[in-house]
Amino acid sequence: MSQNAIEIKNLKKTYNQGKQGEVKALHSISLEVKTGSIFGLLGPNGAGKSTLINIMAGLTTKTSGQVSIWGFDMDANPRQSRGSIGVVPQELNFDPFFPPIETLEQQAGLYGVPKSERRSMEILEAIGLGDKAHAYSRSLSGGMKRRLLVAKALVHNPPVLILDEPTAGVDVQLRRQMWDYVRELNARGTTIVLTTHYLEEAQELCDQIAIIDHGKLITNEPTQQLLARVDGKRMIVTPKTEIAVAPDLGADIRAELDGFGNLVIDYAPKKTEVMEIIAKLQNQNIGIKDISTEEAGLEEIFLQLTGND
Ligand code: ADP
Ligand code: MG
Repeated sequence: MSQNAIEIKNLKKTYNQGKQGEVKALHSISLEVKTGSIFGLLGPNGAGKSTLINIMAGLTTKTSGQVSIWGFDMDANPRQSRGSIGVVPQELNFDPFFPPIETLEQQAGLYGVPKSERRSMEILEAIGLGDKAHAYSRSLSGGMKRRLLVAKALVHNPPVLILDEPTAGVDVQLRRQMWDYVRELNARGTTIVLTTHYLEEAQELCDQIAIIDHGKLITNEPTQQLLARVDGKRMIVTPKTEIAVAPDLGADIRAELDGFGNLVIDYAPKKTEVMEIIAKLQNQNIGIKDISTEEAGLEEIFLQLTGND
């Protein structure tokens, strides 16, 4: 396989919303997803994330532009292009009265996987649902249902897996389980594209992050590079004696109390040196019991780039 699992050039999508007229959901998106990566597509609600991945998956028609999946141009080789991708939708899309094994068999049939090549039981075992193969799908726990969705997307053994908001609305524990599972799939060779509006998720999981807003690509770069771009740091100070209100440390420094009596100070290293902040605290008679610093997260970058909260 070539270096890129997905190549998108000048992709545009305009929806016709009847009386409300046209909505330009994607303006002119060009991007590449490297083979073997975990690629994160980030953006606020309505940015165009689902539209973009639904086009890749062949579920939504594009208005113009080129898309190639696993080296197959979507227009010239639609079958191969679609066959190279598995999609995990945001909503549960299986019959609650169908046992997992039948859900997978049915999906395999849909993709024309010959009986001799089906691996439904193997896939269920791989995702830890082997002993639930014949249970009603509705009796599965939330985490199991999510994993069944992933299993369904894998029946035709696609080299590229797309997950649309895989952890939207799920609890923290389940989210971590999903992350582990995505990493595992990736380690076994599957290229992953996921959309999320959880910045932490992208930061934790993805090696490359693209941010879209209002249908436009704002940035697309390796996660570490993106994080290094922001001039922001956070200092957390535990005062020697409790303070009631956060001190004013000047225009370029933001100081707030967290719920535990710590002072959380955000500053720009290019403008302010650590010693300056410490001196200012001392001037205001705030003793320091403990101190630590953190790099700025994706949150700040996201705000800087999109101007959205
Ligand atoms: P996201 O997944 O980032 O939240 P979407 O791709 O769902 O964004 O939506 C992008 C824009 O396209 C929104 O303005 C949305 O209202 C519009 N849109 C999405 N799907 C349709 C559709 N089927 N018909 C008409 N407009 C749509
Ligand atoms: Mg969406």
